[in-house]
Amino acid sequence: MKAVRYHGIGDVRTEYVADPVPRQGEVLLRILYGGICGSDLHIYRKGMFVEKIPEIMGHEFVARVVKAPGDSGYYPGDLVTGDPRVPCGKCQACQSGEYQRCALLGFIGEVSPGAFAEFLAISPEKLVKFNEEIEEFQGALAEPLAVAVHACRRITKSGPSSVLVMGAGPIGLLVASLLKQVYGIGWVDIADIDGYRRRMARHAGVDHILEDLEGVHDQYDTVCDVVGLEVVLGTALQVVKPGGQVHVTAIYERLPVTDVNLLVGKEITLVGNNAYTMEDLREAAAMIDKGTVDFSWMISRIQPAEEACDAFESLVARDKKDLKILLSFDR
Ligand SMILES: [Zn+2]
Ligand SMILES: [Zn+2]
Repeated sequence: MKAVRYHGIGDVRTEYVADPVPRQGEVLLRILYGGICGSDLHIYRKGMFVEKIPEIMGHEFVARVVKAPGDSGYYPGDLVTGDPRVPCGKCQACQSGEYQRCALLGFIGEVSPGAFAEFLAISPEKLVKFNEEIEEFQGALAEPLAVAVHACRRITKSGPSSVLVMGAGPIGLLVASLLKQVYGIGWVDIADIDGYRRRMARHAGVDHILEDLEGVHDQYDTVCDVVGLEVVLGTALQVVKPGGQVHVTAIYERLPVTDVNLLVGKEITLVGNNAYTMEDLREAAAMIDKGTVDFSWMISRIQPAEEACDAFESLVARDKKDLKILLSFDR
């Protein structure tokens, strides 16, 4: 089968590999589209997360069932996505079902073969089914949407009336849109230094789109960092109100040096949000099913799997012109 494999930093190749052989009880999927995620870019740029080389990348996907065990509840042709998390299964977090808190949490496409391939074998417990009304490609957004649902559920717990989302990449835009349009937060702003992303943010229906936060102090009940660059956390501590919350929904490639005294002095609560739960993924799929929010505008392009290398290069370019690129595996 055709697959997109990571061979090392900056080296992604579309090549032919052996088809997966489903194990006892597993469902065989034919992948339609796979979405390139920020964490795929961490791999591409820095070689993070991946355990062995080469590895089939990808954890955001929409697929059709090819073959399923009789008792799985799935049938050939079903339109599905799946939970790509690979938890250790043994630690305290895993024992209590909070896989997103597992210190050893990996994803398919990192610690095992991923979804950027024509076929994927997966356990039926991990699948989430879509109704047939949606356009197939939209299903590929369920996984990033689940990340946003998870963050929004945690952000809204403290009942903020104003939220600033820092970073208008796919996750930041999803978080900001959901906060405004689904979770009913009265005042939602988004900030990004990139002009293209600020233009795209007009689709998110937020109150203000900001370029820089110079001179802004103590303004928001909650600030959500969806960037993961050194300066951002410091700015978040500056612009959040005393007693407010700063949420980090980003993976830092380089660890930030931050004014902790600001955190202490303003009694800020710092919250980390990692991935999602199965419930969040089901909720995200249900939003797509019901058309609760339309995120089609976020998909810049659908490219054939053969052009994966171009897609990665475009996404890591300084001069950004793409948000979410889907790779097509449909023949
Ligand atoms: Zn993802
Ligand atoms: Zn674990």
